[in-house]
Amino acid sequence: MTHRALRVAIVGAGISGLALAYRLKKLGEEHSIDLTTRIFDAGSGPGGILRTENVEVSGQRFVLEHGPDSWVATKPETRALVEELGMKDDVIETLPANRRVLLALSGKLHRLPDGLMLGIPTNLAAYLQTPLLRKRARLRALLDLALPAKPLGDDEDETIGAFLTRRLGSEHTNLLAAPLLGGVYAGDAYSLSVQATFPQLPQAEREAGSLIRAMQALVERRKQKTGSGSMFASLKGGLGALPKKLEEQIGRAAFQYGSNVSNIGRLEGPGFRLAIDTDRGPFHADHVVVTGAPSASAPLLEKVSPDLGRKTRELVDAASTVIVLFGLLSEQVHSPLDASGFLDPSEEAGDVVAGTFLSSKWEGRAPAGHVLLRVFLRSKEGRDLREREDSTLSKMAFARLQALVGISGEPLFTRVIRHGHRPQPRPGHIQRARALLADVAKVPGLHIVGSGYEGIGISDCVRAADAVAHAIVRAKD
Ligand SMILES: Cc1cc2nc3c(=O)[nH]c(=O)nc-3n(C[C@H](O)[C@H](O)[C@H](O)COP(=O)(O)OP(=O)(O)OC[C@H]3O[C@@H](n4cnc5c(N)ncnc54)[C@H](O)[C@@H]3O)c2cc1C
Repeated sequence: MTHRALRVAIVGAGISGLALAYRLKKLGEEHSIDLTTRIFDAGSGPGGILRTENVEVSGQRFVLEHGPDSWVATKPETRALVEELGMKDDVIETLPANRRVLLALSGKLHRLPDGLMLGIPTNLAAYLQTPLLRKRARLRALLDLALPAKPLGDDEDETIGAFLTRRLGSEHTNLLAAPLLGGVYAGDAYSLSVQATFPQLPQAEREAGSLIRAMQALVERRKQKTGSGSMFASLKGGLGALPKKLEEQIGRAAFQYGSNVSNIGRLEGPGFRLAIDTDRGPFHADHVVVTGAPSASAPLLEKVSPDLGRKTRELVDAASTVIVLFGLLSEQVHSPLDASGFLDPSEEAGDVVAGTFLSSKWEGRAPAGHVLLRVFLRSKEGRDLREREDSTLSKMAFARLQALVGISGEPLFTRVIRHGHRPQPRPGHIQRARALLADVAKVPGLHIVGSGYEGIGISDCVRAADAVAHAIVRAKD
């Protein structure tokens, strides 16, 4: 058996960096590699965006998600990782009784028609009866069943909004589908690339000739496969349990928190020298993996090559969002909250775009007799809401909740969480991302992983991290 030495530096202990370090450790053991991995993070713990906070009120626990509250159940990578880590019994699905999304319209919350899948109607009887759209708009949407397909080629792209308007008409798109699909990316469906965000939609047009037919078939397949139909999955104690478990498996000694990596320089021979903004000195590595969103990674990549830095910065726009969480007594809320949340495309919503009734969506997020609600804010005029005071943001969010669900009194607690760097892939993103990754591959030992290159969600990060771990081990041969 040969022993080989390999030094890997990972910038970032978010899910990308953690999944990568974990996979490297496993592969290192398998291939008898003498592996030294060091994970640097400017923050104080693992998880990056993925963070769960427990709040105790009178000895009772609320589980607050500061970032994502779930992964998409149909993407297998996160589930596979969770199972590999022995956390299978901790996986939870959304509560079946509340698996519906509401729509704010004319100052009230309305049920979306049953059977919407990615904003596409699949239960046509229910859809034809919805009072949310005019009759002609409903009939226009059903034209999708008969319209000739104009499938997008591999190199072609459209915005989500333009694509859906072409198939289903503008009223359906603007009122139902665009808020739902744009909301997943905290963005505007009329500027996001359909190929990069929901490739299953162009694929549906290409293969089935109709989005409605394709989504109906998908719903059927899903029912037969899982029997449950939950589109999202999470963990009992909150998603933050996943980074903690990964950190434990990788070994705490590999982590250097509170360490901002300020420079990456290439050495004379192979390898890199990382400058760390702490007194612990530089780190030499054969491979460096820069993780996180492109807008966050660009300044470091610029140090390796100005051209790479520029291309990374230009790859994808970044949006900022604010999440405000409220803990309340159930009796303070005057609506049944029998849904997972609401979309709020209405004019009077201001900067509120959506809300999640976390304690209705998941079991165990709030103690009995309490509720946990979350409101998403995004400036529709492109301002950076993160600069606003906590009190201004929470007032804005609470006022909208009061108007839509009716709340008396003050919340038991409030949390305001700011997020920058939410990637907004524009049409043509896939080609730009491929070109950038090809450029990175030309620099031996340099890798990038994160949300905003080949996918946006947790599972996309896990998949990319796995691929890079394998590439690093292969490069050693
Ligand atoms: C509000 C919100 C909701 C979301 N909801 C969902 C969802 O429901 N489902 C889903 O699948 N995905 C969701 N996402 C996307 C998902 O959270 C991301 O895909 C994923 O968490 C990205 O992980 P990452 O490790 O690539 O980046 P990050 O989590 O951003 O981690 C990068 C880490 O690198 C560190 N870092 C960066 N630069 C340096 C440096 N120079 N030196 C030292 N450290 C550095 C940062 O401190 C950070 O900890 C959501 C994202 C947001 C913001």
